[in-house]
Amino acid sequence: MLNVLDQDIKYLPGVGPRRKEILSKELDIRTWADLLEYYPYKYVDRSRIYTIDELSQDMPFVQIKGRILSFEEFSMGGRRKRVVAHFTDGHGVCNLVWFHGTQYVYKSYKVEREYIVFGKPAIYGGRFQFAHPDIDDAASLQLSDMGMQPYYITTERMKKAGMQSRAIEKIEKTLIDKLTAPLPETLPPFITGPLHLISRDDAFRKVHYPKSADEMQRARLRLKFEELFYVQLNILRYASDHRRKYRGYIFGHVGSLFNSFYHNNLPFELTNAQKRVMHEIRQDMRSGRQMNRLLQGDVGSGKTLVALMSMLIAIDNGFQACIMAPTEILAEQHLHTIKAFLRGMDIRVELLTGIVKGKRRKEVLQGLADGSVQILVGTHAVIEDTVQFWRLGLAVVDEQHRFGVEQRARLWAKSENPPHILVMTATPIPRTLAMTIYGDLDVSVIDELPPGRKPIQTIHKYDSQMTSLYRGIRQQIHEGRQVYIVFPLIKESEKNDLKNLEEGFETLRQAFPEFRLSKVHGKMKSKDKEEEMRRFVSGETQILVATTVIEVGVNVPNASVMVILDAQRFGLSQLHQLRGRVGRGADQSYCILVTHYKLAEDTRKRIEIMCDTNDGFQIAEADLKLRGPGDLEGTQQSGMAFDLKIADIARDGQIVQMARDEAQKIIDDDPTCEKQEYQMLWDRLKELRKTNVNWAAIS
Ligand code: ADP
Ligand code: MG
Repeated sequence: MLNVLDQDIKYLPGVGPRRKEILSKELDIRTWADLLEYYPYKYVDRSRIYTIDELSQDMPFVQIKGRILSFEEFSMGGRRKRVVAHFTDGHGVCNLVWFHGTQYVYKSYKVEREYIVFGKPAIYGGRFQFAHPDIDDAASLQLSDMGMQPYYITTERMKKAGMQSRAIEKIEKTLIDKLTAPLPETLPPFITGPLHLISRDDAFRKVHYPKSADEMQRARLRLKFEELFYVQLNILRYASDHRRKYRGYIFGHVGSLFNSFYHNNLPFELTNAQKRVMHEIRQDMRSGRQMNRLLQGDVGSGKTLVALMSMLIAIDNGFQACIMAPTEILAEQHLHTIKAFLRGMDIRVELLTGIVKGKRRKEVLQGLADGSVQILVGTHAVIEDTVQFWRLGLAVVDEQHRFGVEQRARLWAKSENPPHILVMTATPIPRTLAMTIYGDLDVSVIDELPPGRKPIQTIHKYDSQMTSLYRGIRQQIHEGRQVYIVFPLIKESEKNDLKNLEEGFETLRQAFPEFRLSKVHGKMKSKDKEEEMRRFVSGETQILVATTVIEVGVNVPNASVMVILDAQRFGLSQLHQLRGRVGRGADQSYCILVTHYKLAEDTRKRIEIMCDTNDGFQIAEADLKLRGPGDLEGTQQSGMAFDLKIADIARDGQIVQMARDEAQKIIDDDPTCEKQEYQMLWDRLKELRKTNVNWAAIS
């Protein structure tokens, strides 16, 4: 049956070689299956005609039927004008309005002819109006067979070739009419039954031609579920295979290093969240199965300490441990933090990054191979490539999105059994996304900050309010605090951006003649950068003017103000990361987001969210909703089957969960994929892996 869908679209009536070429180039559609899986991005209800007195502002697209009474023109300054048609259906009057293409309007639409007008109603000047509506001759439109009208995304080139959404709609209809035999089912009845999912055949037909909103929703639910279900089944099966294949090192006891650290070196009580997470990690590491754990915790929640204590357990059990940071600066900072925590203890900690060279590097590598180096701090690159451990028992990966299955697999190759792995992230990944990218990881959350921290106050200011902003900064510094001022540089290499920074720095220096300023940006030599940072850390300078190089990791508890200029140019998670640089001491801290007055809707939303909440998880959820998962850093590289055609990780969280639960039940019941009743699922999974590049990447 499947070979029917493998057919070339060229032979569909209404397509032909020229359109096929466009469809394949523009939308990657070559076969019947491709076309069938090219889903509408929206639908509009054309099954019902509204009357003007029924309209309300919150309605989506609707249609009304009536006639144009007259046209009127308004000047909009210069040569631009707006054309308004007064339109009535006998129940009221509304306006149809055009801001351009007015010649076309006069040519196409006539007073007193009957039309069906289709658009989104909005109130303007006390009347409902439709801006640039779709208009059809009432006589030419057969409403009886129009349910929900599907809309398909088309490209510029397609539009030029006369292939609008309507054209795709026609081709889909032709295709569906050609499919006389029902399409084979790909989910078993014991799944579709209890969840009330419609059949695959039904779903494909109805997703392109729903008679009602209800039908449309049921069709989409079925298709989304199927997509997400196989993604989850793939991930969970991979995890379960992996678990069976590899054993985990058993760290059976908590030994003298851990205890000595805990009782003598730890300068404060662990938070309850840290205790809970430590408990989870210890359970994993003594279970006999390899730990794959994602540790999520907001900036400043104390993840590094959890990592360090986990590493001590590894060492106590006769193993080495390593921690990897995404940048050299961060790796060095980890080294300092860890060395400070371990002061007085006999543990060899070494750094390995790109700048550790020559003899020094040799010594470190030698120490790793003979086991005398117990903790290695480094960047990913170094650890992934050449380093040989004597006995690596635990690898911690800090601040990282890009540590997908592939990278982990590379680590496993470093010892006889794979080391336990702890991935830490301060950019919390929303649950549904974590389940999909890191689907085979267990998740721990530190949802509590160390005590004594006041929530950071976030304030939005316009760039016309700099005087009052400067006043606030001055006051904070007089109280002994320090201040970050961040300039957005999209690409630090761009000359223009750097020039802006230099000018901005000059302006600030003149604005604060009484204070000392540091300046840090990505183009500086790392020696100079370090020197400038050191001056700020030691309190020698009061203001640090910087680009986003300070985004992750830097810890200066005395800094209490984070000013972000041109905040509209940053994404939510970046803003949150930057804000996390303050609020680390006991003082009230502030984050000031400066933008110009005119902001796009999305941007204003982002700023509002930042002012409303300090909760990284809420921010991450909002981010996902505003941007969609495709934009999230790392999801592309994750290799975790992100090629979703209809489901949306951001919006379909509930369906992700449903799919996960169903997949889990099956894996639990048949971990070795042998049971006859699940055969169709395993076969289908194999088939999907064959046809989908992303799927293949993880198996
Ligand atoms: P993260 O890596 O999660 O952003 P850090 O590990 O850098 O956070 O911790 C931030 C600061 O809080 C550090 O100075 C750390 O020493 C301190 N800290 C960690 N845990 C506690 C605790 N339980 N009580 C007090 N301070 C803590
Ligand atoms: Mg950290």
